[in-house]
Amino acid sequence: MNEAYEGSCHCGAIGWTYRTAIPPQQWQLRSCQCSFCRRHSTRCTTDPAGSAEFSIVDHDALHRYRFGLQTAEFLTCRRCGVYIGAYADGPGGRFATLNLNALKTPLDGIPASAPTDYDSEDAEARIRRRESRWTPVTQAP
Ligand SMILES: [Zn+2]
Repeated sequence: MNEAYEGSCHCGAIGWTYRTAIPPQQWQLRSCQCSFCRRHSTRCTTDPAGSAEFSIVDHDALHRYRFGLQTAEFLTCRRCGVYIGAYADGPGGRFATLNLNALKTPLDGIPASAPTDYDSEDAEARIRRRESRWTPVTQAP
């Protein structure tokens, strides 16, 4: 049975609902060490059996930032600056990783985040990893 968890930027213009059967105490949190994620101190989680639904209240506020291999959009709010997660759309489907710093209500007991480094991946390996590990998207941003 999937539980729903809600996240949004600070001003509420952009957000998501994450559905997963994994209890928060067993979530795997990752802190990507790329130059973008390091600056945001991201703590992200995914569940290939879960779902991610983006809810964009104000489309003018949604900024889709691409960099590096250009294989995903990093979603930030133009108004309040918060990074809510990344979205990738390709032949294999639509996938997301969600930044738990954007949770509306902080959760007790979620594990510490593990630093991760994906610098050695080429574009193909990166897309393959996302397709197997990221959360399927039911509502695109
Ligand atoms: Zn905002």
